[in-house]
Amino acid sequence: MSWRARAAAALVPLAIASALSLAQKAARAQAPNPASPAPNPASPAPNPASPAPNPSSPAPKPSPPVTQPGPVRYRIAGCRSRGPAAYRQGPHRREVAIGFDDGPAPLTPAFVAMLERNHARATFFMIGQQVSRGWRGTLIRELRDGDVLGDHTFTHPDLLRTGPVRGQMSSTLRAIRSLTGYTPCVFRPPYGAYDESIVRTARSLGLATVLWNVDPTDWALPGTAAIEQRVLAQVKPGSIILSHDGGGPRGETLAAYPAIIAALRGRGFHIVTIPELLGFRPVYVPCIRLCEGIGLPRRALPRDALIQRAPRAHAGSAGDDRESPSGRTPARPSGAHPAAAWPRS
Ligand SMILES: [Zn+2]
Repeated sequence: MSWRARAAAALVPLAIASALSLAQKAARAQAPNPASPAPNPASPAPNPASPAPNPSSPAPKPSPPVTQPGPVRYRIAGCRSRGPAAYRQGPHRREVAIGFDDGPAPLTPAFVAMLERNHARATFFMIGQQVSRGWRGTLIRELRDGDVLGDHTFTHPDLLRTGPVRGQMSSTLRAIRSLTGYTPCVFRPPYGAYDESIVRTARSLGLATVLWNVDPTDWALPGTAAIEQRVLAQVKPGSIILSHDGGGPRGETLAAYPAIIAALRGRGFHIVTIPELLGFRPVYVPCIRLCEGIGLPRRALPRDALIQRAPRAHAGSAGDDRESPSGRTPARPSGAHPAAAWPRS
């Protein structure tokens, strides 16, 4: 069975459950409100001598206590990557995606709030060892906002020099999943250092390797105006923009983005997440009590949403048509922040 058929098969019982819950909700909504029994003009006037209710009258009865857990909603659980190669950009459309690397970090909540104020979404590539319980609220808030969580290894090594590669990726996946219930489908190698073996390993974990083609080198603190000018000078349709919310003081980057976002929109660009840019479908799972404020009704899900029963995303599937032309060649992209500049290396 193809994934599409599997997804459709999984959808049917959920759709029935969803329809039932919606019907129950509608029935509840139509039921009279017991707190304000409106007088029925057709019924005889009440006899003050007999205050007992007339059993034949249609007077509303109080609803029984709700014992069912409530309507089924759906929460984001990941995304489904595809493609055998590394991505540096998306299709040539008026869409761009922003990636913030090296968090979660002290300014990450401010980045999230800035995105909210500007009605924009981004992809946060996180370092696994920083994904501690204290960040849970921030990460859930990112998911609620439609931001995407990505894998940026556990300790931020140069994967061409150190191992084990698979453990760096999988331990970060586990950290993010156990804290948020979300399984990333995008991976960014630190320093942009990767080869075919690293891309294959990522793929075996359901992760697409994602580089960039716009780099303002914000990590080197060139100033807010320079970050803004560099992004706007390099960006083109389908661009993936590299920036940082962690790994050092990121106030310049934070200050640059409201103007960058406004200018991109002024040029007609839609700002999307990296999975959206690359055509990776979001994965949702039903939730009842454990929606954590991010559950959505079925009708509010994106049109390309995949609905799964199990609370984890599937690994990527074969059949890519979007690989980047240079993605098969082991490479360190020009402008990647060099290993020597990483403050902890
Ligand atoms: Zn990094």
